[in-house]
Amino acid sequence: MKHSHDIKQAKKSPPSRVNTLSECFYKPCGKAFTPKRVDMVFCSPECKKTHYQKAYQKGVKLMQAKGMRFSKLETSARLQRLYKYLSDRQPHSTRDIGAAVNLEAVGSSIGELRRNIRPNQDISCRFNGRTAEGASIYLYQLVEG
Ligand SMILES: [Zn+2]
Repeated sequence: MKHSHDIKQAKKSPPSRVNTLSECFYKPCGKAFTPKRVDMVFCSPECKKTHYQKAYQKGVKLMQAKGMRFSKLETSARLQRLYKYLSDRQPHSTRDIGAAVNLEAVGSSIGELRRNIRPNQDISCRFNGRTAEGASIYLYQLVEG
């Protein structure tokens, strides 16, 4: 009777793990680490987070540099009227502003004005219910911080 000692167990395939060192993808870190998975490119979750935050900020700056165009207060009579109207520092509704300043797109003009005013100023925007037709009513107010 022959023993079956010699029947070798089929070799298990090696686990798909990378044992080589790789460099953290977040360049300022640049730490060499052993990835636990093939697709692991950051040495730590913090590096991953920081990297993507930086990438996001860079993207925003790029967009700003490309100049998402907006009107300037010095050259826009429309923004000057709006600014003057809000200078009483009282809250005004979208409708009041539209009528008083003769504006159609109040919201976007407010947005433009906001980019033009002094750094210590801001235009606050408060939701103030809805019209009978269901449109949102906002109150805009020039505030100084
Ligand atoms: Zn790192």
